[in-house]
Amino acid sequence: MIRFGFAGIPLSCKGRTYKDGLIYTKNLGLNAIEVELIKGESTVSEEEAETLKKLSEAFDIEMHVHAPYYTNLAGDEFNVQLSREKVITAGKLAALMGAKTVVIHPAMYNDLSKEEVMTRVVRQTRDLRNLFKKRGNQTKIGIETTGKQSLFGSIEEVVEVCKRVNDTVPVLDFGHMHARSNGKLNAKETIRCIFDKTADLSIPLYLIHLSGTFYENGNEYYHTPLKRSDLEIEAILELLLENELNATLISESPLLEHDAIWVQVIFDQLLKKGNQKYF
Ligand SMILES: [Zn+2]
Repeated sequence: MIRFGFAGIPLSCKGRTYKDGLIYTKNLGLNAIEVELIKGESTVSEEEAETLKKLSEAFDIEMHVHAPYYTNLAGDEFNVQLSREKVITAGKLAALMGAKTVVIHPAMYNDLSKEEVMTRVVRQTRDLRNLFKKRGNQTKIGIETTGKQSLFGSIEEVVEVCKRVNDTVPVLDFGHMHARSNGKLNAKETIRCIFDKTADLSIPLYLIHLSGTFYENGNEYYHTPLKRSDLEIEAILELLLENELNATLISESPLLEHDAIWVQVIFDQLLKKGNQKYF
C-alpha cells in the first residue's frame, strides 16, 4: 500500500494544533502525517499525543514523528546526552501517538573519521533501541539520509546502521540524497540504485521524504516545491510499484499538503497508465 501525507500541520489548516491537522488531513483525502517535534522540546503534550492516537486510528491516518533536528549521537558526552534525551522524549510521544517511526538525524562528522562516527552512532542507536524495547515501545527508530557532506547519513551509512542495529529502519529523504549526490537522482537508473542498496533489509514499509532542494557542490541549502526540482518523482513512484513495495510518502516541500496531493495525482495517473497491471 502507498500512503500520502506531509510533515507538520497543513499550511491551509486554520487551526494550528495537530488535532486540527489530523481532521484536515482526513478531509484532504490524505492518510499519513509526520509530527514534527522540532523546537528541541515537546510541542505536543502526552495528553494530546493520546488524543492523536485515537483520532488517527478512527481516520486510518498513519502516524510518524520527527525528533528535534539538532541531534548528534557521535559528539562529546554533553551533546550525546542531550541528543539521547531528545530521542527518548520524542520516542515516548511517538509511542503514545501510535506512531510507526521516530525519525532522527544521526550525527555530524566534525573532526572524527567516518569509521569512528559509524561506531558511535551504531553504539548509541543500539542502546536507544534497547531502551525502547525495555519500555515496551514498538516505535522504530528511523535513520534519515542527510543532505550535506558534513553530516553522517549517506545512503550507504544509513543502510549499514540499519543492518547492524535490529529494529531500525532507513528513512529515505530523496531531496537530501539528491542534493548530496549533487543532482544525480534525476534519472530512474540512479533512483533504482538507491532501492537496490536497501534490498537486503527487506523493509516492510518504506518511509520516504519528498521535497525539492536547492543544492550546490553536494550540499543542500533549502527545500523547494517539488515542481521546481529536477528530482525524478515519477521514477520513485514507478519503482515502488514495480517492486511492489509498501511506502509512505511524506511531503517536506514548503507547499506541504499541496505537494502531497500533487504526488498522489501523479501516482493515480501512473496507475491508470499501467491499466492496473500493478495489482
Ligand atoms: Zn529530517
